[in-house]
Amino acid sequence: MTCKFCNHACQKAGKQKNGAQKLYCKLCRKYQQKTYRNRACCKDIKPMIFKLVCESVSVRGIARILNISVNTVQTDIKWAAKSIIKPPIRLHQETVEVDELRTFIGNKQNQYWIAYALNRKSGEVMDFIVGKRNKRTLRVLVNTLLLSGARKICTDQLNIYRSLIPAEMGLLIFFMADLNADINILDPLPNSA
Ligand SMILES: [Zn+2]
Repeated sequence: MTCKFCNHACQKAGKQKNGAQKLYCKLCRKYQQKTYRNRACCKDIKPMIFKLVCESVSVRGIARILNISVNTVQTDIKWAAKSIIKPPIRLHQETVEVDELRTFIGNKQNQYWIAYALNRKSGEVMDFIVGKRNKRTLRVLVNTLLLSGARKICTDQLNIYRSLIPAEMGLLIFFMADLNADINILDPLPNSA
């Protein structure tokens, strides 16, 4: 059999406890099997987990769809989360979209926010923060935006942000829906007529 990772020929390398033939690739030094009884070991499973996470499928949902354990899904998500790094802050962005995802840890009383700021045009993530569901968490994100010299913020929680941003900073705050309306008027889609 050829290696699943580099297509080099594999050699036999003993048996697993369950009797399955183990194979070893000398080139990339990886052990593997032709087929797996435990589906979580298949190399296609991990990318599938991340695709489903991005489509907002729940941890339990992913476990059911892929027929693997909830623990495996959680372990893989935690592993992937470790490699997330904050992007360098871009200065003087024109319009920044700020939004929050609400979630909880343990029980529903323990509310958390994942707040993020995107460049509205490119969709590029400018900054994000995970913290308790309170103003202090959002203030960290807003302060970053103020220091970066962003011009406009659009959001769905106008009042929270208005109270966090001093008027003299000259930062314009919009409701997401208002800004969408503006964009549609200024810049109609070619097939919308
Ligand atoms: Zn290989």
